[in-house]
Amino acid sequence: MSAKVESIAPRTDAAPQPMLAGEKSPTEMFLVKMFAVIPALALAAAIPLAWGWGLGWVDVGLAVFFYTLTCLGVTIGFHRYFTHGAFKANRALRIALAVTGSMAMQGPIIGWVADHRRHHAYADREGDPHSPWLFGTSARALAKGFLHAHMGWMFRRQLTNAARFAPDLLADADIQRVNRWFPALTAATLLAPALAGGLITWSWWGALTAFFWASLVRVAVLHHVTWSVNSICHMIGDRPFEARDKSANFWPLAILSMGESWHNSHHADPTCARHGVRRGQLDISARLIWVFEKLGWATHVRWPRPERLARKLKTTTS
Ligand SMILES: [Zn+2]
Ligand SMILES: [Zn+2]
Repeated sequence: MSAKVESIAPRTDAAPQPMLAGEKSPTEMFLVKMFAVIPALALAAAIPLAWGWGLGWVDVGLAVFFYTLTCLGVTIGFHRYFTHGAFKANRALRIALAVTGSMAMQGPIIGWVADHRRHHAYADREGDPHSPWLFGTSARALAKGFLHAHMGWMFRRQLTNAARFAPDLLADADIQRVNRWFPALTAATLLAPALAGGLITWSWWGALTAFFWASLVRVAVLHHVTWSVNSICHMIGDRPFEARDKSANFWPLAILSMGESWHNSHHADPTCARHGVRRGQLDISARLIWVFEKLGWATHVRWPRPERLARKLKTTTS
């Protein structure tokens, strides 16, 4: 996957860049399908497994640890920092965020950021890579739209043009390196839980159950939570803020998505470091950015400004 991205050199001329950069190769299509389908199948197969023989506290602990690490890598790293520049990070934090985000198995960083910037540029209009509203508003069209926004869009051959949407990352040697490491980071995110489970329980069986729960099931759950922000959070929920699109705040996913399901607030003010901007809206990612700021690792954090929020708030709710 990285080979294609590498070949796109940032351009210096001012001519507008095309939106797409060609098509995904058969290998890339195959990998995207594998990443999406195999972890989900693993989750379904897991249901009959009972507590006590194929699942224990070590598996649960490792699954929660790797879920939290990789989820925050995506929410704080890929999304709020790399895509939207909600704060500045020192080099160590920048690389750590790129690495942990890559371990979520959602594709290499540069492609992820380019897709997401394109999503904001065309939100819920033609050109948005994953809007649920592209097929109409009948029940049938919305069912199709939901599936497309949730995971169908990844199976399209369209490749977002990173030279247009992520030239800053293409020009960054550290990020290029992490982008190239994606296959190795994918292996690491799958093997590390198995290694830890094997060492903690000192058994092959412990390695196997940790691989099942803390690698496959954990990746599947995080995939669906991230995809739900693209699908559910553009269909269902509250819309207290003015936004040019159908983004909505969907509270049931606030904890699992670590603040990303406050998606209407995010589209209303995309560069803001906190998405759960209103009272009582839990946003774990914003909490951790606050900790990074206190430690001096993050600076220039764009915290919500009350007067800006008041301006964006709808006078009549719909
Ligand atoms: Zn969105
Ligand atoms: Zn965003």
